[in-house]
Amino acid sequence: MTPSNWYNIVPDLPVPPPPPLHPGTRQPVGPDDLAPLFPMELIGQEVSTERYVAIPREVLDVYRLWRPTPLLRARRLEKALGTPARIYYKYEGVSPAGSHKPNTAVPQAYYNAREGVRLLTTETGAGQWGSALAFACAQFDLECRIWMVRASYDQKPYRRSLMQVYGATVHASPSTVTGAGSKILADDPDSPGSLGIAISEAVEVAGANPDARYALGSVLNHVLMHQTVIGEEALAQLEEMPDLIIGCTGGGSNFAGLTFPFLREKLAGNLDVTLRAVEPEACPSFTRGVYAYDFGDTAGFTPLLKMHTLGHGFVPDPIHAGGLRYHGMSPLLSHMYELGLFEAVTKSQTECFEAGVRFARTEGIVPAPEPTHALAETIAEALRCRESGEEKVILTALCGHGHFDLAAYDRYLSGRMRDYALPQERIDEALHDLPG
Ligand SMILES: *Cc1c(COP(=O)(O)O)cnc(C)c1O
Repeated sequence: MTPSNWYNIVPDLPVPPPPPLHPGTRQPVGPDDLAPLFPMELIGQEVSTERYVAIPREVLDVYRLWRPTPLLRARRLEKALGTPARIYYKYEGVSPAGSHKPNTAVPQAYYNAREGVRLLTTETGAGQWGSALAFACAQFDLECRIWMVRASYDQKPYRRSLMQVYGATVHASPSTVTGAGSKILADDPDSPGSLGIAISEAVEVAGANPDARYALGSVLNHVLMHQTVIGEEALAQLEEMPDLIIGCTGGGSNFAGLTFPFLREKLAGNLDVTLRAVEPEACPSFTRGVYAYDFGDTAGFTPLLKMHTLGHGFVPDPIHAGGLRYHGMSPLLSHMYELGLFEAVTKSQTECFEAGVRFARTEGIVPAPEPTHALAETIAEALRCRESGEEKVILTALCGHGHFDLAAYDRYLSGRMRDYALPQERIDEALHDLPG
């Protein structure tokens, strides 16, 4: 059964998270500062301290297309690894867009439409979020304009086609239709783009149009809360409780969505479970970033968010897990990481694709490049259990399929995929222009 509420973890935390700040005044931002960008209902959810928020009937009607999602045991993978560990995965690739992103795209489109908004703007990296929002806008008769990171726009033409099928307009970012994009192109006509740049473009257009608002697919508290349907379902579906939950983190929403309901039970003393986030070696915000106030975008249009960041000017190397190439991290998860509520590790790109291929050949599902990070760590843990004989129960987030990522699999299979070492100087350089 799909749950009837989203779960907000904020009231259950021992210390509340630090607020976003206005970049000019350095005071906490208020609803009026955010109103040009978000509908009031979502602003309310962003700062809510209510433990549960009821999911509207109109949203549940759309969720029913693919929810509840399957919770499966990876028996053939376990056998191939010769591990005594028991591996479960929650599969979000059954949604119309092929990932967990529609879990928040649908309510965001719904609340905007209900408040009279006509146009939603957004950015997309790999195209997962763009296709989810395009799908959701089509459900509620909203116009949708998407800035897609140039590198992905060129590498993944079929994600763009999918957004266009749903009726969205797609611009390669940086684009000449915004001031922020034009400025970047003037300095660097061949810029491959980044999520930070694309966010600047989408925010600029939404801010200038009273009928338009902006939608973000990760990072913010309300997004993480919408994703908790994943963990609530998993709690009800599992026959045994996990010892360890593993998920990949770009902005943190699929990891939070799966883990927060389990963490609620842990904080209440009902469950003993370890949570582990996995990020790419090429974009390691938890493990090598600093915890500081920074902008969410490259041009500096957003409020200042206290988060683990590599610096808003950081442009990650073009790894294929486009959804994990973001300089920052969810402020809520960043705060929780500082509180010691979960662990984080990194994985290299080739180790991840090796895990993805292994998973496809045993379990039959081709994972998106992002969750191969979680699978690589799951496999590493299962092999550690083979050494120790431990019968650990592992739950992992299989947050999307890789049907649009076969060019990346091609590169891996033909031996043309490379790993990117990230020298400390590049991080130091990007951290130079953190807002003081
Ligand atoms: C967007 C995306 C991610 C990264 O975003 P999170 O907010 O960290 O979940 C990971 N996996 C898939 C399949 C995505 O589409």
